Amino acid sequence: MSPGILARYEPVIGLEVHLQLRTGTKLFCACSTRFGDPPNKNTCPVCLGLPGALPVLNRGALDLAIRAALALHATVHERSRFARKNYFYPDLPKGYQISMYEMPLATAGWLEIPLDGATKRIGITRLHMEDDAAKNLHEGFPDSDRNSYIDYNRCGVPLVEIVSEPDIRSPEEAYAYLTTLKQVLEYTGVSDCNMEEGSLRCDANVSVRRRGEDKFGTKAEVKNLNSFRYLQHALEYEIERQIGVLESSGRVEQETRLWSVAAGRTEPMRSKEFAHDYRYFPEPDLLPVHVSEALKAEILSKMPELPDAKRARFLREFQITPYDAGVLTTTRALADYFEAAVNAGAPPKSAANWIQTELLRRLNDAGKEIAESPIAPAALAELLRIIERGQITGASGKKVFAKMFETGDPASKIVAAESIGQISEAEIERACREVVEKNPDNVAKYKAGNDGVFKFFVGQVMRATRGQASPQLVNGTLKRLLS
Ligand code: ADP
Ligand code: ZN
Ligand code: MG
Repeated sequence: MSPGILARYEPVIGLEVHLQLRTGTKLFCACSTRFGDPPNKNTCPVCLGLPGALPVLNRGALDLAIRAALALHATVHERSRFARKNYFYPDLPKGYQISMYEMPLATAGWLEIPLDGATKRIGITRLHMEDDAAKNLHEGFPDSDRNSYIDYNRCGVPLVEIVSEPDIRSPEEAYAYLTTLKQVLEYTGVSDCNMEEGSLRCDANVSVRRRGEDKFGTKAEVKNLNSFRYLQHALEYEIERQIGVLESSGRVEQETRLWSVAAGRTEPMRSKEFAHDYRYFPEPDLLPVHVSEALKAEILSKMPELPDAKRARFLREFQITPYDAGVLTTTRALADYFEAAVNAGAPPKSAANWIQTELLRRLNDAGKEIAESPIAPAALAELLRIIERGQITGASGKKVFAKMFETGDPASKIVAAESIGQISEAEIERACREVVEKNPDNVAKYKAGNDGVFKFFVGQVMRATRGQASPQLVNGTLKRLLS
């Protein structure tokens, strides 16, 4: 579609994010929430919806949901209530989902996302608790052409649903919103936020309108966006599709569509399947939820430091650049690593550099997370102090770092074993003299005012000392000899 036509329309997007809370047990029973257990291992009469079984609210899940709501600046209501959302589907053995409906846990929050060097505030309409459905398995079995299987381990796992206002205006903003939301939630510790394992899932509501129009267009809901990439691709596709419909004088249907990864497009779900009347009514087996001011205050007082605050503090305390502070606070684990290294005596600026270059690159190559780093923060600090003292050069430091990463040995041991210590002043003096004596032509050039050849001398000395001489000493010595 031509950029001219696209530019005449404005996308409007609202995201619905489902987040699995990090509890040991399910929302209304004592079954384990462990991921990857043998199918149907973690089930009981409550989460299998057997008649007569009664739900009991998991207190830990409620606390986590409140923490998530407070981190998103939402108002947590004193009173909220679960309702039954009725529909029939094999992954829902009770015949209804227990979810908060007219009385959600929290409303009116917001999240600030980075946008073109500034920030934009995206409203959060509501945050409520609900139980997850089971997992239908349509593929991967010898008889998958005829039969489907169901794993009820996930059934009853605690979720919060976080619904945004239709404040998002482009696929890039949607991406920034989801990234920032994930980052904040990961910092709070309420969830693993793992899209691959399904602990963070996202549906997108999309419409388009002519620029200048103040009424919203009809929206479609796009499901199955299980990665950041799919979210962006699906939105780009869906926006163009709707513009195409409007440009050919059609009408956008209000419908639910699925992102097909294989086809690279959104496709309508069979509409009957989703023509729902959920017949919500209050859950009679559970009491309303009460959240006291005291409980909110207690949860707030234990709130971990969130990304914005941490970034600001890093800037203030460690005098690193805003860029470095941004990268180092991408995840809480990375920020903790950096701070632990500094607390163990690493100079902040070099710690910031070494972590972003050497460490992240090697971790990435090895497919490892920061938490699995073979070099502990204190071990990195030791290496950086050795370099700072001038005992070894930065270039040798990189070699030592590589060995540390491979073996897990401390820097001091590697430096001693491989005798990588920096070479003495006397040796540097000798190497400099040799290079000067062997290159009378270049000495003449230098003396005639060609400063460029100085680099040549430094290079020769560094090569003769295999990069282990202190660059300052080499510079000083050469200047003296050449003057
Ligand atoms: P529904 O009743 O269909 O569930 P809601 O009003 O509850 O719709 O909104 C669900 C989501 O859709 C929210 O994230 C909201 O921001 C978003 N949304 C609502 N209207 C529009 C629209 N016209 N275009 C895009 N998104 C919208
Ligand atoms: Zn159970
Ligand atoms: Mg809704």
